[in-house]
Amino acid sequence: MLYILILTTKCNSNCKYCGAFEDDLMPDKIQYKIEDLAKFLEKDQSTSIAFYGGEPLLEIERMKEIVYKIKAKHYILQTNGLLLEKVDDDILSKFSTILVSLDGRKEIHDFYRGNYDKVVENVRKLRFKGELIARMTASQETDIYEDVMSILSLKKFTHVHWQIDAVWSNEGIWRDFEKWVENYNKGVRKLVKFWIAELVRGRVHGIVPFLGVATAIFEGFKHVPCSSGFDSFAIATDGRMLACPICPEFEWNNVGTIWDGIKKRVKILEPCPSCNYFSFCGGRCLFFNRERLWGEKGFKLVCKTVKNLVDSLLSYKEILEKFRYEIKYPKFLNTTEIIP
Ligand code: SF4
Ligand code: SF4
Repeated sequence: MLYILILTTKCNSNCKYCGAFEDDLMPDKIQYKIEDLAKFLEKDQSTSIAFYGGEPLLEIERMKEIVYKIKAKHYILQTNGLLLEKVDDDILSKFSTILVSLDGRKEIHDFYRGNYDKVVENVRKLRFKGELIARMTASQETDIYEDVMSILSLKKFTHVHWQIDAVWSNEGIWRDFEKWVENYNKGVRKLVKFWIAELVRGRVHGIVPFLGVATAIFEGFKHVPCSSGFDSFAIATDGRMLACPICPEFEWNNVGTIWDGIKKRVKILEPCPSCNYFSFCGGRCLFFNRERLWGEKGFKLVCKTVKNLVDSLLSYKEILEKFRYEIKYPKFLNTTEIIP
């Protein structure tokens, strides 16, 4: 089981598309006793712990305390990268996966986040042997082909992953989502073509959505690929258990506490379970499945991106089958959502 610990709601960055947690959703720092957390987590022999925020490295001492006190199979960190230099080698060596927010080309990253040079400098200096994932937000200014290629060209990350800034996006971010989807789908097809050509030459690029969907072509998803509410739960700073870390305010998302355990499961709603793409998509995302903030039209447009990604990969099914075991992903739950 993967547990995503929200260490703090605070962040030291101010990205254009990010809505920070509002103050009344949960306290800004952990309020429960680490001993209570340990008691809950250690019941499970295969616990993985992911540190999440806000920016989790603002609570670096708390993070270290948890790593040293609570045994886990994997430790995972999702960070904006600005404080990575403060993580010492001993702690780094305990992590299996580090995800660093990076949006691709410098001008795109700086437009939304404004700190490309600092993040890339910190990543270049990092002495880390595990899975290092560049985690992009794909938004209005993103050219998915160019931005993913820019990250690959850094030759520093083992993987690149992205999420479309859809449905819970901040006001004023999108000018024309429909047109963007058209261009994005073209870019994804171009990227799949590149990825397959490289695969045939024996070079496997760690493009997470491709690896994950290619794996699903043979194994199929039974629920949302991030596993939220199934094999992955978030723990809020007040000890509440959430299916998904991003929306603590929704009743359906509050599934228990560290003291009482997980008391309920979250159902994936129609049209996903009956959709022909369900085994490749899993319903994409619980929040997207349940909260139709962009209405039917927005829902269908996002589904169009999923279907395009799946169809692009399915058209190379025979090649993918040959590399099936080499490209199997993920090896363990690591907070990547697989479907952008
Ligand atoms: S493609 Fe859309 S409707 Fe189909 S399973 Fe995925 S999210 Fe649900
Ligand atoms: S994909 Fe959706 S359900 Fe899964 S963690 Fe992200 S926001 Fe939550």
